[in-house]
Amino acid sequence: MRLSLIIGLLFIAPFLKAQDLEFADIDGEGEFETDSFYDESAFVAWWDFDHELIPCADMYDNSWDSLNVNLPNLNARDSIDGICLKLTEDDCDYFHPCPGVINSDYGWRHYRMHKGVDIDLETGDPIYAAFDGVVRISKYNYGGFGHYVMIRHYNGLETLYGHLSERMVQPNQTVRAGEIIGLGGSTGRSTGPHLHFEVRYKGLPINPNTIIAFDSSSLKMDTLNLTVADFKAVSPPKTQAVYHRVRSGDTLWAISRRYGTTVTRICRLNGIRSTSTLRVGQRLRIR
Ligand SMILES: [Zn+2]
Repeated sequence: MRLSLIIGLLFIAPFLKAQDLEFADIDGEGEFETDSFYDESAFVAWWDFDHELIPCADMYDNSWDSLNVNLPNLNARDSIDGICLKLTEDDCDYFHPCPGVINSDYGWRHYRMHKGVDIDLETGDPIYAAFDGVVRISKYNYGGFGHYVMIRHYNGLETLYGHLSERMVQPNQTVRAGEIIGLGGSTGRSTGPHLHFEVRYKGLPINPNTIIAFDSSSLKMDTLNLTVADFKAVSPPKTQAVYHRVRSGDTLWAISRRYGTTVTRICRLNGIRSTSTLRVGQRLRIR
């Protein structure tokens, strides 16, 4: 824990209940765009923007919004399986946003979803764009992110950088990987200087550790194959029934891989054996 955070906690501790302290290192769960006082200067009408410049316009159904992280018109869940994204052509197409250790990881914690990773930093440290792209959002969010920047990349992903002390880019601005987009800080729902960093595909958060090795500040892969398993953490904790219609060439092993489950589990749910022959058109319960 950083010294400044410890001092900060000592100072505010008498005013916190035990439960608040438990959440003290967690930000971001409240980061919905529910601001009643949003930063109007951040609004850029979509018609003011040349649609030719929208990265992955087709993939995102021409959605381009300078105020909202989520794009409600997109139903990514229908189309995430089997998506293959070419993340980089070249090594220099990725730039690590901020070197530093993760002090709060992605995932469910205390029944809340932390949709990114928190990277330790000092206020004023430069924050870099991870890939080439166009800034979609640059604004202040009172509920969670503080000053934050969101970039749509040409590779199909969007990245979000929260709690900045300063934003140095504007919506619709083209940025290159490695360009400074702002300075690290502790604005918004935060108890100490850190970068809240998210990776999203069509609005759905992906575990940043899937593609980035934070200990070596490098990208793990140049091509990302997305399956529903990559979005498991954003599904409700109670699983809903999921079915698969068997197609020609399907095997239990391939189906299990595709849905991020195991052959044993599929067999148990369907009362079949791992050696059973699958029929084309057969409906298999996956979850
Ligand atoms: Zn966070």
